[in-house]
Amino acid sequence: MDLKDKHALITGGGTGIGLAIARDLAAKGARVTITGRRQEVLEEVAGDTLTPLAMDVRDEADVQAKIAQAVAQNGPMQICIPNAGIAEGRGLHKTDMAFWRNMMATNLDGAFLTIRESLSSMRQTDWGRVIAISSVAGLRGLPGAACYSASKHGMIGLIRSLSEDYMGQPFTFNAICPGYVDTPIITRNTESIAQRTGMDTDKAREVMVGMNRHKRLVEADEIAAAVAWLVGPGSQSVNGQTIEIAGGQM
Ligand code: NDP
Repeated sequence: MDLKDKHALITGGGTGIGLAIARDLAAKGARVTITGRRQEVLEEVAGDTLTPLAMDVRDEADVQAKIAQAVAQNGPMQICIPNAGIAEGRGLHKTDMAFWRNMMATNLDGAFLTIRESLSSMRQTDWGRVIAISSVAGLRGLPGAACYSASKHGMIGLIRSLSEDYMGQPFTFNAICPGYVDTPIITRNTESIAQRTGMDTDKAREVMVGMNRHKRLVEADEIAAAVAWLVGPGSQSVNGQTIEIAGGQM
């Protein structure tokens, strides 16, 4: 696969799933812009192949300015991967407005702004792929994580509707829905579960491994492989879909 005339944007591209996708697309020849709030994290992983750009997906003006800057630097945006996200479980009665708003602002407003700004560039071209990183929690309820699950369901509604809006045009919109993937989010969640329940961290990790049907954590490279298929030849009729990568039927 040769993506050498394509520019890809991966939000949250400095760590975990986003970084695996960024490295794989760059290896296939794409010009790749990675974003996140922490410039130092982006610079540390960028090397010669990735363009680091600090951007907070919750901030409309920042997203507008930075995507315009990325387009000026690396050309029209033809692959858009809204991946930046936070994951934290909290019972509804303990959920205040600030927690809810931050979850929605990051996971859902962030995807909306990233896609909107990328599409205005993509629509000037004759090919584009939008692949949102949602979650299996975007397809069904996740106990103890109603806000997270609602934000991830929202991303899927956005993707499915855009696939209808642009039907027949050379752009596709899909969502990848991973189960538990071995990334920094899992490390942080393991610690938070351990703190909340008094479980030790190994046991807390086992609980998450046990939620994947094949009883292992998914590797970030497995998500990158699905993205590679969606941007490659032969998947142009896959549109408005949710692809679960969780070891089995959920
Ligand atoms: P990471 O924590 O490694 O990645 C999250 C990324 O999002 C970080 O690079 C972070 O960078 C960025 N980010 C967070 N908030 C913002 C913000 N306000 N503005 C810009 N960037 C932000 O974990 P993962 O790689 O696991 O997560 C990637 C995506 O995959 C998330 O959307 C997550 O919900 C989803 N997912 C993960 C699963 C898992 O088990 N790991 C399972 C299912 C879905 P910075 O902090 O520098 O801003």
